[in-house]
Amino acid sequence: TAELAQLDPEIAGHIDAELGRQRDGLEMIASENHTAAAVMQAQGSVLTNKYAEGYPGRRYYGGCEHVDAVETLAIERVKALFGADFANVQPHSGAQANASVMHALIRPGDTVLGLNLAHGGHLTHGMKINFSGRLYNIVAYGVDESTHQVDMDEVARLARESKPQLIIAGWSAYPRQLDFARFREIADEVGAYLMVDMAHFAGLVATGLHPSPVPHAHVVTSTTHKTLAGPRGGIILTNDADIAKKVNSAVFPGQQGGPLEHVIAGKAVAFKVAASEGFRDRQERTLAGARILAERLTQPDVAEHGITVLTGGTDVHLALVDLRDSPLDGQQGEDLLAAVDITTNRNAVPFDPRPPMVTSGLRIGTPALATRGFGEEAFLEVADIIAETLTAGAASAAAGGAGVPTEVLNGLGERVRVLAAAHPL
Ligand code: PLP
Repeated sequence: TAELAQLDPEIAGHIDAELGRQRDGLEMIASENHTAAAVMQAQGSVLTNKYAEGYPGRRYYGGCEHVDAVETLAIERVKALFGADFANVQPHSGAQANASVMHALIRPGDTVLGLNLAHGGHLTHGMKINFSGRLYNIVAYGVDESTHQVDMDEVARLARESKPQLIIAGWSAYPRQLDFARFREIADEVGAYLMVDMAHFAGLVATGLHPSPVPHAHVVTSTTHKTLAGPRGGIILTNDADIAKKVNSAVFPGQQGGPLEHVIAGKAVAFKVAASEGFRDRQERTLAGARILAERLTQPDVAEHGITVLTGGTDVHLALVDLRDSPLDGQQGEDLLAAVDITTNRNAVPFDPRPPMVTSGLRIGTPALATRGFGEEAFLEVADIIAETLTAGAASAAAGGAGVPTEVLNGLGERVRVLAAAHPL
């Protein structure tokens, strides 16, 4: 980094500041993590200089012997990690992985059945101005209004009615597990492909702490940077040789040009880490932390401010705070937690009465803290800090919004600093 500081002190300064932000605060955005230094070393390597259009052994450029070895290792490791017969590790991102699968399996104008964005789905599952919503006829399933869980009978009804060519199971904001076997039954009944997007819970799947979609789906996509803790990027898995062929040609040359071999090297390192005992322990603490958080945010002292969590708990790495009955809104909640150096994101909850820029929800995840070594005791403390911050905010909003007293916020911020210092990055 000495060269960078000398050549471009502005950028070097911002990188340093970002390191400070990550180190001194607590990262609780559910889709984020702290990747390993070894992953960043691979990603910051000379592999970034190499063009390698094509696939290992079948490139359109010379000099690919080393990147071929790297990409082959990434493919073999991810296949072993998830028990899949075929893998494509080239998608630049989760969105590119999803675009490639749709490019491979369906045609513009075909019908896609996916989870409503406002109920926890992802942009690429059919949002109006995303490529998915532009190119395909989108039918959305939602969660049940009373349980806030996906109602599989409703999915079946919509599938029979709309006859989709593709059904997408997966989510960006949902605190429970999906029934992959039932999704496949429905897909088979209506003659659709089933794609599971496990971007959020891939790290849990890799360690056996969440059911695997691989035996059920025609094709599985994921990001590599969320619970999986690798570099930013995407992957596609399948057990079907025919689909694998179509997917490969949809990724390149269908959607992308030269693969990012430096990122693929980072993915390979991350897959190696993900196969370790230590990674399983980390995912166990991730789950335990989310459970502790959900439990704390359903206690009476929180409930009396109209604050709770959707579905009353969690089976995964995040909890969704429901502020619909609270005077505190999602924006205020996000800002208050930011003021004590806990980073989260406001998130619309299903049937949200507040506008999308404000929202009545917060999505709070534990993967990054588990990576920092948080265990039960530390998660109990952070859950308590969050509960106290949000209830103080709700009390202030109810009293007309004078704001939470500075000394209260300072005290909470100090507790965050103690936790951060005790768990160095
Ligand atoms: N799929 C799901 C379920 C996601 O939550 C996300 C990201 O939030 C993506 C895909 C897209 O990943 P990326 O941001 O890498 O394009």
